[in-house]
Amino acid sequence: MENIAALDSLFQPKSIAIVGASNTEGKIGYSVVHNLIESKYAGAIYPINPKDPEIQGLKAYKSVLDVSGDVETAVLTVPAKFIKSVIDECGKKGVKSLIIITSGFSEVGERELEDEIVELAHSYGMHILGPNIVGVLSNSDSMNASFAPFLPLNGKSSLVSQSGALLIAMDASTYTRRVGFDKLVSIGNMSDVNFGDVVGWLDNDKNTNCITLYIEGFKDGRHFMEVSRKAQKPIIALKSGVSAHGAAAAASHTGSLAGAAKVYGAAFQQAGVVQAADLDNLFDRSLALSLQPPMKGDNLLIITNGGGVGVLATDAAERFGIPLQFAPKDVQVELKKHMPAFGSAKNPVDITGMAGTEWYVDSVRYAIAHPWVDGVVVLYCETAVSNPLEIAQGIKAAVDEAGVDKPIIVSYVGGEKSENAMKWLVENGVPAYGAPDTAINAMAALRDYARMRELMDVNDETHHEVDREKALKIIASAREDGRDSLTEIEAKQVFAAYGLPVTKNALAKIEEEAVKLAEEIGFPVVMKIVSPDILHKSDAGGVKVNIKNSDEARAAFKTILENAKAYKADADIHGIVIQEMAPWGTEVILGSVNDPTFGPTMMFGLGGIFVEVLKDVTFRVAPVSQGQAMRMLGEIRGAPILAGVRGEAPRDREMLADTITRYATMILDLSDEISESDANPVLVYEEGKGIKVVDARIILKKK
Ligand code: ADP
Ligand code: MG
Repeated sequence: MENIAALDSLFQPKSIAIVGASNTEGKIGYSVVHNLIESKYAGAIYPINPKDPEIQGLKAYKSVLDVSGDVETAVLTVPAKFIKSVIDECGKKGVKSLIIITSGFSEVGERELEDEIVELAHSYGMHILGPNIVGVLSNSDSMNASFAPFLPLNGKSSLVSQSGALLIAMDASTYTRRVGFDKLVSIGNMSDVNFGDVVGWLDNDKNTNCITLYIEGFKDGRHFMEVSRKAQKPIIALKSGVSAHGAAAAASHTGSLAGAAKVYGAAFQQAGVVQAADLDNLFDRSLALSLQPPMKGDNLLIITNGGGVGVLATDAAERFGIPLQFAPKDVQVELKKHMPAFGSAKNPVDITGMAGTEWYVDSVRYAIAHPWVDGVVVLYCETAVSNPLEIAQGIKAAVDEAGVDKPIIVSYVGGEKSENAMKWLVENGVPAYGAPDTAINAMAALRDYARMRELMDVNDETHHEVDREKALKIIASAREDGRDSLTEIEAKQVFAAYGLPVTKNALAKIEEEAVKLAEEIGFPVVMKIVSPDILHKSDAGGVKVNIKNSDEARAAFKTILENAKAYKADADIHGIVIQEMAPWGTEVILGSVNDPTFGPTMMFGLGGIFVEVLKDVTFRVAPVSQGQAMRMLGEIRGAPILAGVRGEAPRDREMLADTITRYATMILDLSDEISESDANPVLVYEEGKGIKVVDARIILKKK
C-alpha cells in the first residue's frame, strides 16, 4: 500500500457504522454494537438494520446512506451474498474503509467473489480489512470493533493475527498471562490490507512498542520483508504450518500456501524479525521486546540468590545463543562487597539465600551501569528472610537510578508473594517470568533483535559486474532447441557470466577432438557426458575423473558414450565435455528455488553424496549480502568442518560467501528465466585458495 495513512480510518475511526447490527443476542451484529458500547468507544456508532429503528438503545438506520453525519469506517456482518450491495452503498456514502467480518470468501474457495469486492471497494477509494475476521480492538482508542468479548489487558505491544479463533483466545489469555496488548488486529483473508500494510501502520503508532504477529502464510513475502526491514520497532513472529502436515492444515484453512519453514526463517532473519518458537514464547518475547531496549552486546550478567536457578539460567543462556562469560576482575571485586563470603561474583553472581533487598539493589545498580555489562537477568527464589515485592521495587529503583539504555529481565520462583511482585514489575515496565529459562529466552529475543539490526545497518549491498546479455543468449538458444533445462556446459557459462568460479570446459564431438582438448587443458582431466536427457550424469556412468593421458582420454570417450546409450538409447547427446580436474576440497552445495511466497531463494549446505540424507542446508531470500552469506556458513550443523577441524586449515569462507552473493544476484536477475538451479558440488579450498564449481544445473521456467 502506497499510503499507509489511509489505514488511519481502519484503526482510529471517529465514527463507525455496523451493517447488520442486531438486537438478537448471539448474532455477530449484536456483539459488535454491544462491544463498542461496552468498550466506551467515544466516536459515533451508527447501527444499520433494515427493520429495527433502534438497536441496543441507539438510533438505527435502514441504510448507511440514511446516516446524516460522516461515517469513517463500516463494520460489515451481513451474509456474503449481500456484501457487494452494501459496499456499493458505503462507497456512495463516502466511507473510507471497511472491516469485513463476514466469511464465505476465498477461505471456502470463493476467490472470484473476494476479488470482486476488492475491486468494488477500490473503485470508491476504500480499503478492506478481511474478510473472514473478528475485527479490530484498541485499548488506546477505547474501541472494541469486533465480536471478541472484551478489550485485552492493556500493554505496549500490538498483535496481528491471521487466525480469528486464536485472536479471541489470546485476547482472553492476556489477563491470565499478564501480557498485555494495545491493539489486536484480525487480518483474515488479506484480500486487500496485508501483513506488510498493518506492520507499516503500527510502526508509526505511538501506542505500539512492539509488533507481534501470528502468521499462517503471506501473500506477498517480499513486501512484508521490505516493510519490516524499514521498521523502527521490534517485530516478533510466530509462523505456524512449519511441519509438512501443519503446512497442509494451514493451507486448507486460509486458502494461502504456507511456505517452507526454513525459507520463512530465512526471510525473518533478513528482515530483522525476531521469531517465536510457540505461543507461550510469542507472549513472553513480545512482553520483553515491548518493555526493554535491545541487548547491544554479548555480555549477559546473571544475579541470583539461588544456585539452582543460576545453573538453569546458565544452561538456557547457552541454549538460546547468549552464553555466559566470567565477569571482569573489577566487577567481581565490587560485587563481592554485596554478598557473604561464600557467595560467588563470577557469573552467575550468587548473592546467596541470605540476600535481602539491599544486596539485590546494590548489585543491580552497580552491574547494569558497568560498561562491560550489556544486559542483566535477576533471579529470585522465594525465601523466608526476604520480601519479594520490596526486592522488586528495589530492582526497579536501582535500574532507574543507573539511567542506562540496557535491558533488565527478572525471574521469580515462588508462591503468591512472588506472583504479586512479578505483577508489580510488569506493570512498572520490567518483564518478569516464573522460570529462569523463560527469562533468559526473553533476553535472547532482545539480543537476537539487536544482532539482526546490526547486520542490516552494515551497508554491504552487493554490486557485481555481470554479463546479463550473455546469460540471456545462452538461455534463449536452449529454448530455441525446445529445452527447459541447460546442459552443464551452458549452466556453467551462465554461472561464469555472474562471476562464479567454474572449471575450464570444452566440448568434444569426436574422439580426436577430445584428446586434443584434454592436452590443451592439461592432464589430469575429467570427462562427462553432455546430454539434455541425462541430468544425473554419474547415474548413467557418464563421469570419468582423473584421466591422466591421451590413451585414457580415448578410452573414456568410448566408455562414456557406450554407458550413455545403454542408459537411454534415444538420448540426445551433444558430445563430451573435457574439464580441468579440480583438486580435492570440501564439498558444498549451492542451489536455488523459486519459493511461492518469497520468489528466488538461495540454498547452501554441505554437499557430497550425503546431502539428501543429512539435509544440512540453510536458506536466504535473494539478494544475499556478504554478511548474511557469512551467517549462512555458520548456521549449518557442519559449520565446524568449514572452520577447520582436527588440525585441518579453515576453508576459504570469504570466497564461498562471495560466491553465494553472486549466485543470489544471478537468480534474482534471471528470475524470469530460472526456475531451479544448483552447483553440486562446489569444492572449497583452504583460506585464500578459493573455491571451484565443478558441476552446474539450471532448470528453466516453462514458457
Ligand atoms: P552428476 O552430479 O551429474 O552425477 P558431477 O558433475 O557432479 O555429476 O560429477 C560427479 C562427481 O565427480 C562430483 O561429485 C565430483 O566429486 C567429481 N567431479 C566432477 N567434475 C569434477 C572436476 N571437474 N574436478 C574434480 N572432480 C570432479
Ligand atoms: Mg553433481
